[in-house]
Amino acid sequence: MGCLDRVAFLNGCGAKNRRAEVPPKNEAIESKIQSKLKGDPLTAAWQIRPKLKGDTVTLTGLVDREEERQRAEELTKSVVGELRRVDNQLMLTQEVILDNSIVAALKTELVTDPATRQANIDVQSRRGVVVLEGEVQTKDQRRQAEALAKEIAGVKQVENNLKVQGDPMTDYDVIVVGLGPAGAIAAYELSRRGHRVLALERSSLPRGKICGGALTVRAAALIPFDISDQIEQTIQGVRFDFCGKDPFMIETPEPVASTVSRDRFDYLLASKAETAGAVLCDGTEVVEWTEEDGEIAVRTRHDGWRCRYLIGADGLNGLIRRGGGLPGEGAVGVESEIPYQGGEHEDHSLIQIDLGSAPHGFGWRLPKRDHHATGVSGADRKVKSAGELYGQFIENQGILKEASGQPVSVFQRASISERTPLHEGVSSGSATPPA
Ligand SMILES: Cc1cc2nc3c(=O)[nH]c(=O)nc-3n(C[C@H](O)[C@H](O)[C@H](O)COP(=O)(O)OP(=O)(O)OC[C@H]3O[C@@H](n4cnc5c(N)ncnc54)[C@H](O)[C@@H]3O)c2cc1C
Repeated sequence: MGCLDRVAFLNGCGAKNRRAEVPPKNEAIESKIQSKLKGDPLTAAWQIRPKLKGDTVTLTGLVDREEERQRAEELTKSVVGELRRVDNQLMLTQEVILDNSIVAALKTELVTDPATRQANIDVQSRRGVVVLEGEVQTKDQRRQAEALAKEIAGVKQVENNLKVQGDPMTDYDVIVVGLGPAGAIAAYELSRRGHRVLALERSSLPRGKICGGALTVRAAALIPFDISDQIEQTIQGVRFDFCGKDPFMIETPEPVASTVSRDRFDYLLASKAETAGAVLCDGTEVVEWTEEDGEIAVRTRHDGWRCRYLIGADGLNGLIRRGGGLPGEGAVGVESEIPYQGGEHEDHSLIQIDLGSAPHGFGWRLPKRDHHATGVSGADRKVKSAGELYGQFIENQGILKEASGQPVSVFQRASISERTPLHEGVSSGSATPPA
């Protein structure tokens, strides 16, 4: 199907958004870290190798104690700052001894067990996590090898990468369902660590998303790449009121958040995941998943894939998430885009929250590039009409009806266990203009 076309499409976007960056000299940073490590009494005696690739510094080598491992990480962070990642792969000597004994014990088990003695299985262990690689003849051999590994003393986890001869399955290490922020970042992080990732998104990208698009400074700092060209407004305070009355403000000299357009922002995140190596298929809805023999089969209407891990990032009403049986409460609301009027009291650095405008909910006005995202949402068991709720909110906020714009999105977020359509044809979680 159109997977490849769509991947190429995203490639184009990635290229467009790429910014000219002057890469820091990796060797200079690595040698600065080395001098720090050599200058500290806890780490000086050890052969620790820092390697900077992309935004991650990987530390490898051997130390004796946890304290030394932690100190090496702290010293590295003091050189590269909080925005770069430190992948601390330093091993403790006792862990190496344990891993060696795990590998030896498991190899003995594998060559003596009648089911696995003919199989050619490669065993590795790292801090008690055993990885099985190679090709076996039958599914039974695959299962038995894993069972034997789990029995060995000191084994914390088994990663069974054994392939069964003639079985074309296990196409990906991980399949991610949904390319909102959660799915896109998961796909990005896994791909850049070398895992084979397929990401499936129901909508065509870029897809619209009803959301205030407010991103706190802390959340933004967790994003592992530059998003500065996404920022529409910088937020320095929040104005709370109750039905438009009794306002109080919380303002700070420093920015507390920024606003983004979810369409563009989510598209950027998906493009980054694709650039990192994930295979993206948009316009592809997952309709079923099943688990058997440690593998997961994921199906759309026309295709199917297998994977070892499945990430359900398909949102509140998603198929995968519903499978988890998590509790939830439905909400209903309306959002519209009200263009800036240009008045002297119009403040584009404030988020406004009306705490009295909806039962078990609130109203909001979030400044975007050229408009306020203006909406209201409440518990669906309490709200009779989303339109009336919006009308009341607009009135409370003193926004002229003529200026209030057409509500552009009516939405409903169904609870996990119940789905009640707001209008015929408007399914939960989706957004369409009201009739
Ligand atoms: C009105 C409103 C305002 C909000 N304002 C803010 C705000 O200002 N700041 C903030 O931080 N949060 C806000 N939120 C919450 C925010 O939108 C969510 O927390 C966020 O979108 C969750 O991200 P996600 O990646 O988990 O899921 P989503 O962003 O919901 O993405 C899930 C993706 O999965 C896809 N999908 C679903 N089912 C399938 C399937 N079967 N197969 C394939 N793909 C599938 C969907 O198409 C979607 O793209 C707001 C929410 C609402 C409703």
